[in-house]
Amino acid sequence: MVLDPLIELRDVNKYYGELHVLQDVNLTVGKGEVVVVIGPSGSGKSTLCRAINRLETIRSGTILLAGQPLPEEGKALARLRADVGMVFQSFNLFAHKTVLQNISLGQIRVRGRKKEQADKRSRELLDRVGLADQADKFPAQLSGGQQQRVAIARALAMEPKALLFDEPTSALDPEMINEVLEVMRQLAREGMTMVVVTHEMGFARSAANRVVFMSDGRIVEDRAPEDFFTAPESERARDFLSKIL
Ligand code: ADP
Ligand code: MG
Repeated sequence: MVLDPLIELRDVNKYYGELHVLQDVNLTVGKGEVVVVIGPSGSGKSTLCRAINRLETIRSGTILLAGQPLPEEGKALARLRADVGMVFQSFNLFAHKTVLQNISLGQIRVRGRKKEQADKRSRELLDRVGLADQADKFPAQLSGGQQQRVAIARALAMEPKALLFDEPTSALDPEMINEVLEVMRQLAREGMTMVVVTHEMGFARSAANRVVFMSDGRIVEDRAPEDFFTAPESERARDFLSKIL
């Protein structure tokens, strides 16, 4: 039983054409929980994340955020995407806007803040992710690790209820992975609700409350990290772990 559920998926099914990409998925993420999702390529991890902030629609089932069904369109949908921020593998920053503008834009458009107020908040967040001196640069002038930290600051600027991370370090050079994971660990310590798709098993062990293992569109295991890593129950999880550890 998860206390105080924030994100709930009940019997969720999704297809791409004939491909049954999410199969009877049930998942509850409690407030303040960190759930790491792992599994082979093509198992439906990105689709799961994208369904939670409605970048993808589902065929059947229900997804609830704080007890409410996801909004379908309009301003409510824009607010949902602010409430459930998403950080992608490819940082998705606006190339022709400065770092500061990237972080302030959504606050102004979606949260209705004044520019000065938004910029102030953006600078605080840049400081928090260790980039206080990069505000006036353009994304291309930053390293991948710095860009990803800007993307995290941008998501945080919306004061999200939860953050989804889809392989946030997969596109980074090895020496930059840790600076991003460290920001994520700090968020976890501060009680941010997070769903994190990652192959970083060290992060899963140290920061996750639960590990969800997906295979062929199904959640095959959903357990505490120490249990999952020491004694995976399914053959598929054992096989997966033997390949990556
Ligand atoms: P993962 O993130 O675990 O690698 P995805 O959720 O991206 O898996 O994809 C799950 C399955 O759905 C894969 O077989 C993938 O090829 C397929 N798929 C993903 N996106 C689309 C799409 N837009 N159209 C058709 N098939 C897709
Ligand atoms: Mg993926």
